[in-house]
Amino acid sequence: MITVDNMRPDHMSLYGYEKDTTPHLERFAREAAVFDSAFSTSAWTAPGMVSIFTGYYPPVHAQSGRFSFYDSEMTSALRVLSKEGYEIFGQSIRGPSHENLGFEHALGELEDFIETRLSNAGRYFAWAHLRDVHLPYTPSAANAKRFGVTSRASESIEAVRKHKVILRHPDEVQLDFEHAGKVAFDKEDVPEIRALYDGEMAGVDARLGRILDRMRETGLLDRTIVIISADHGEELFEHGWVGHASTGFDGKLYDELIRVPLIIRVPDRSLTGRSSALVQGVDIMPTLFDILDIPDANMEPAMQGRSLLPLIIDSESKIRDFVFAQTTLKGWNTPKEEIGIRVATARSAAHKLIWFPTKNGARIEGFDLRQDPGEKKNVYPQRASEFRYLERAFETWTKDNRRAAAELVLGASSRRLANIAHAVLGTKGLVDAVNEWSAIQKMRETWELEPDNFYGHEPYASRWRDVQRLAAKMIAKAMECSANKGTLSAARSSQPRDVDAWTCVHRP
Ligand SMILES: [Zn+2]
Repeated sequence: MITVDNMRPDHMSLYGYEKDTTPHLERFAREAAVFDSAFSTSAWTAPGMVSIFTGYYPPVHAQSGRFSFYDSEMTSALRVLSKEGYEIFGQSIRGPSHENLGFEHALGELEDFIETRLSNAGRYFAWAHLRDVHLPYTPSAANAKRFGVTSRASESIEAVRKHKVILRHPDEVQLDFEHAGKVAFDKEDVPEIRALYDGEMAGVDARLGRILDRMRETGLLDRTIVIISADHGEELFEHGWVGHASTGFDGKLYDELIRVPLIIRVPDRSLTGRSSALVQGVDIMPTLFDILDIPDANMEPAMQGRSLLPLIIDSESKIRDFVFAQTTLKGWNTPKEEIGIRVATARSAAHKLIWFPTKNGARIEGFDLRQDPGEKKNVYPQRASEFRYLERAFETWTKDNRRAAAELVLGASSRRLANIAHAVLGTKGLVDAVNEWSAIQKMRETWELEPDNFYGHEPYASRWRDVQRLAAKMIAKAMECSANKGTLSAARSSQPRDVDAWTCVHRP
């Protein structure tokens, strides 16, 4: 699976862009299934990518910022793949967001990785993430010329050529970035900025072309499923700025930010054609499981995405009526106290609603995409009743997320609870028990940052309190016994989690 950071389909000739930015992908896609209405679940890398890997929406996997923690006892599609005998390679396998998802080895450079697979017939899943199109926009001289970059010079052009991050609200931000925050984008610069982005697109297309050609020549393509997509899109001044949540510190969810390419090629080329059905990153893993005939019964909760195969094989016209996305305001750079503030969207083929947080609730924007695909005219204030169905869909989605999140966290914490019981009663002892306890605490910290988490919702909250109380009681009892130089022992017939059945035994 190759994801290209902030790759916009409407700037790819594969998706009908008038400039010839992606000839290599066009050629490749003739043997593949192409999805024309694919959407990320967020407007920056981590939540969008983790949705792909888990099949869960951001409010469920909760990887919303650098302070979030995915627990290794939580269900993970990659671990299911690993159990099926696949080695799991990831572009980024450590650090918050990707830790504990099931990545086993670092991938390194994609080109080098491909070479290592030529003589290795073992089964593998690999994720490569290419940042070639990400700010700063630095196309080769040839691609710059090809897409009409001129010698026009200005502060904003210099900014996009130089900086990874261009802050929309520099005065609010305390982080020490060497940024171009004081830049005021000049409308006159926009064609130049878009040409720079297009030049970058052609560059990554050529790189992908070389990689895929190498795979074809060496036969690797005949035994590899290839998925090409993106983590999110990029704003190129359609709504007043350039970048995405992590680079502009300006969380928005217009289509240029959430629409992504999605191409899937299978070795026997049996999946071809185009579908305009609404699909999302959460559908990628269910599709892969479907292609590989891997049962997803071990996923607890079940993945929220659906297999895309019916769209291609059975020519079904849709698998869902709505897509949803959610983002923090400043992406990766969001400070802890702002992480609970979320921009959210619900979109059908015809309408779109976006909720922007304000001090007194949310400002709502609604767009009629049939007349206004560019989302320029907010018609929600005049035509609110037309959008009721999207509001109801969003409520249903929120409820389902709460349920799925509770199943994910409660499932993991009850496994942790069992581990604590085994640790204090068995040979592992107190240190392991305390580690298990601290993992439960980390889960709690992550979930306290989620705005609409399940804590406040009975019966999830009471089950969560039970887990915490029981774990604390187990550890306290083990510590007391250990301080008295004894070991805990439980009646053979009792459940380890029945703390009252344990007694502290002193052996001579
Ligand atoms: Zn990204």
